[in-house]
Amino acid sequence: MGVVGVLALQGSFNEHIAALRRLGVKGVEIRKPEQLQNISSLIIPGGESTTMAKLAEFHNLFPALREFVQMGKPVWGTCAGLIFLANKAVGQKEGGQELVGGLDCTVHRNYFGSQIQSFEAELLVPELASEEGGPETFRGVFIRAPAILKVGSEVEVLADYPIPSNKVLYSSSAVEIEEESAVPEKKVIVAVKQGKLLGTAFHPELTADTRWHSYFLKMASDLGGTTSNAIVAVSEV
Ligand code: GLN
Repeated sequence: MGVVGVLALQGSFNEHIAALRRLGVKGVEIRKPEQLQNISSLIIPGGESTTMAKLAEFHNLFPALREFVQMGKPVWGTCAGLIFLANKAVGQKEGGQELVGGLDCTVHRNYFGSQIQSFEAELLVPELASEEGGPETFRGVFIRAPAILKVGSEVEVLADYPIPSNKVLYSSSAVEIEEESAVPEKKVIVAVKQGKLLGTAFHPELTADTRWHSYFLKMASDLGGTTSNAIVAVSEV
């Protein structure tokens, strides 16, 4: 499995490190590009993605993060971390923020609304049951949460969530995205996997349930797994 890093610029990095500790794994805080050379997998926490992007830019982390992803190394983004990993983000101001990319999906940054619209929900995640022999459900903590509106063919959907009945679609561009989308009608995607990349719109690090962390650690240690993020990078050269 090697050394697990946690991007420690802003947001819930301490909570991820604590969850790893509960599984007997030491998470290493990552703040500088050269530190990525000492780790074999990375967690990008939730927080506020514009702030995180500004700090990542300040520390010149984007090129090293992109290289890390393109090398096929396991990376898990939770919430703002998912936004970082997405190839495209919508629902933000003109120009938006810089993204690491690699995960072939379009995320809406604040799909579920603002802080007061944060919520918890029981999600059906069959993959967690098969991995852990536990229940098929996971209690997701959604805080100013994004949603995945569209995924590419390489992306495996691990969990989705019904669109709230009072949900007004964000803008004409969001309507367009929904029409193109492969998402089952009236649902948005909230957890995905593509090769060694994992993305969750919610915050498993804020619960006592460490199954997503053990799922990621297994992904990180499975050397025989697919590395389609690496293949994408090669084909782009
Ligand atoms: N929607 C937030 C953003 O744009 C992410 C929220 C979170 O990580 N809890 O950064």
